[in-house]
This record gives sequence, C-alpha cells and structure tokens, in this order.
Amino acid sequence: MTEAQTLLVILALLYLAECLVWVPRSAALLRIWGRELGRLTFGVSHFGNSRGSLALAPPLPMLGHVLLATQPGLSISPEMLVAFVPFTLHPAGCPLQTAHSFSWEAIRHTAVSNRTLLINDRPILRAATPQTAVRLMRQIDAIRQSPPAQRAALLERSIEQSFDLSAARLRWQDFRGAVQPLRCLASALFVFLFGLAPLAAWRWGLTRVWLPLLIGLLALSAATAWRFRRLHLEWYPDASDDRFARFLMVLLSPVAAMRAADFLARPLLESYHPLVLARLGCGDPDFRPFARRVLLDMRHPAHPATPSSDPAEAAAVQFARHQWLRAIEAFLQKQRIDPDDLDRPPDRLEDSCRSYCPRCEAQFTFAAGHCPDCGGLPTRPFSGAGTDPAPPP
Ligand SMILES: [Zn+2]
Repeated sequence: MTEAQTLLVILALLYLAECLVWVPRSAALLRIWGRELGRLTFGVSHFGNSRGSLALAPPLPMLGHVLLATQPGLSISPEMLVAFVPFTLHPAGCPLQTAHSFSWEAIRHTAVSNRTLLINDRPILRAATPQTAVRLMRQIDAIRQSPPAQRAALLERSIEQSFDLSAARLRWQDFRGAVQPLRCLASALFVFLFGLAPLAAWRWGLTRVWLPLLIGLLALSAATAWRFRRLHLEWYPDASDDRFARFLMVLLSPVAAMRAADFLARPLLESYHPLVLARLGCGDPDFRPFARRVLLDMRHPAHPATPSSDPAEAAAVQFARHQWLRAIEAFLQKQRIDPDDLDRPPDRLEDSCRSYCPRCEAQFTFAAGHCPDCGGLPTRPFSGAGTDPAPPP
C-alpha cells in the first residue's frame, strides 16, 4: 500500500469514527434520512456502558442527521434540586447519578465545563451535549433568582415548553432549510476528499497535484467552518464555548468538517421530551409502544425511587416525577391516547405466567414477588391467576 493509500484509509477510519454518536441512557435518538424525519430508536446497543451507548449516524453528509432528545436528569421542586431521577428510557435501568442535592438558597454559582454542569464547583450532571448543559444552567439560574412564590409556576412553564409539539416541528422545519447550504458544502468536501483527490493523485501523481489539492481542501474547509459558525450562533446563541471549540475542529479537521451539519442537528430538539421527538418521527404503530414504555416507567419507577432516606430529597424527587407524569399524561391525551388504556396489563406469554412487572413487563410463574430487573419492584398478579402460597426468595 502506498503512503497516499494509507492516508486515505486513515481518513476513512477517522470519518467513520465521527459518524458514531454517543447516546446517553436518558436519551432517544431520531435518525433523519434525507430531509424527512425518520424513525426513533432508543436504548440498546452492544457498544456501551452504564452511562450510554454508541449509535451510527447516517454515514454520508447528504444522507441525513440524527436528533437527540433526553429525559430530564434533575429532579427540581420549588424547595430544592436533586441530581437524581427515578426514570429512564433504557431497559437496563438508570444511568449513574451523582444524587447531589441543593436547596435554592445554598446555590451560590453555576457553571458549565464542556458537557458537565457544576453547582458551587461540584460536578452535578454530565449532559448529552454542551447545549443541554448550558440550558440547564440557565434554568437553574432563573429559578434560584426568582422569588420562592414564583418557582412552581416557572417549573410548570418549563415542562410545558418541553412538550410543545408545534414549536418543535417548526424549529425542525426552519433548521432543515437553514442547514442546506452547509450540507452541500460538507458533501462537496466529502466528494473532494474521497473522490476527486485520490483520482487526481492516481492519474497525475501526488507530487504534481498536491498544491492545487491542498488549496482546494483549505478553501472548502474554510467555507464550511465559516458557515458552521454562523449557523451555530443563530441556533445556539448561548453555547459560545462549544461554538469556539467546534469551529476550530471544523476548520482544522476535514473529517470533522464533513460532519458539521450533523454536529448542529444533534442537539436541535434536545430541550423537548423524547415523546415529542417520537411523535414527530413515528407513526402510531411505533409511537404507541414507545409511549407505553415511557408511561410505565414513569408510573411505576424502578427501585430505589429516591436517592436516599432524606425526606426532603425524597419529597423533591416525588414532586418532580409527578409533575412530569402529569405532563406526559396530558400530552398523550392531546394525541388522543388514553394513558390508562396504555397502562393496561400485558398479554400473558404462557398459561403458567401468573404475575408481571408493571414497569418492564417481565412475566413470572409466581403470583406475588418482586422483579429483579427493576430493583425489586413488586409484581402484579394477572387477573384470575390465583395466589401463590410460596413466593420465591
Ligand atoms: Zn421489571
């Protein structure tokens, strides 16, 4: 293999690495194929750990993007904030959580370092993207600086906004048009780097064409970076640190420049609940199972449902969960789905199944016991399943 060929292979591998997206356990991912919203995926990949997993974005710049939406990572009440939530989209359970808690009066300052949210210099939460971390910081600052009597209303409004389907759809449609020139530039760069440049080097020899190729590469990279920076400023005006770092990446790395539109798209709808993303991207046959999963998890959280035995923390977590549950049920009703109908018991897999887990829907041959996958959540008997005199240990 010649040096030029080796370089091309290395570039291709680096490019593939840029196509991988880290999806936290609290997040759902929607793939966009072309200009249309695609299908929502969430949860499981074999390439992951207790915090999240890797997913592949559409591999060519013109093929599409991915969008992320995350469930809340903080339990916020009018009295305090707890870095713990008892719900998750991931079947294997909640990600690791710091469970730090602060009363509003105890918060002196907030900051964001890359994707990590800090309160009083303590790392609280690692968000899916820097934009989310900044958004959470702004929300915390707004609540702590507001009079205590107004905090409940602020929280309510914030949750309402995260279920605003019309606003999310409009944001996506506006972005889809705005990002088109950047997608064209990224695609031109892709064709130049993986098509024209190798062809020219093969036809005339790298020593004769390296200078015009380099000039072309620099011109395309600079145009892509300039356009990327403008769009970033327009769509994420608060995320100045991320803008600077990404701009340099796109300017200096052709591999990153080819993924520039995808970098912009990922956090676009992250302030919305994953149910909103699912409603945008899925038809009823896919939306209902996803909504059922979200609802069951929210109504019947896995144990432990509180971070500690502290009653104030437990009350804040309960308050936040009920607030989100009410919002989810209201959203489903707007979609003409009855939450109680969605929460019905699963069909029995076999006649020997006598109980089921209300959260993960695992089925058991005993009539009364606990689900080991959900931290010992009590199971529920199927109707007419009788009683089991000897529940399992
Ligand atoms: Zn379970």
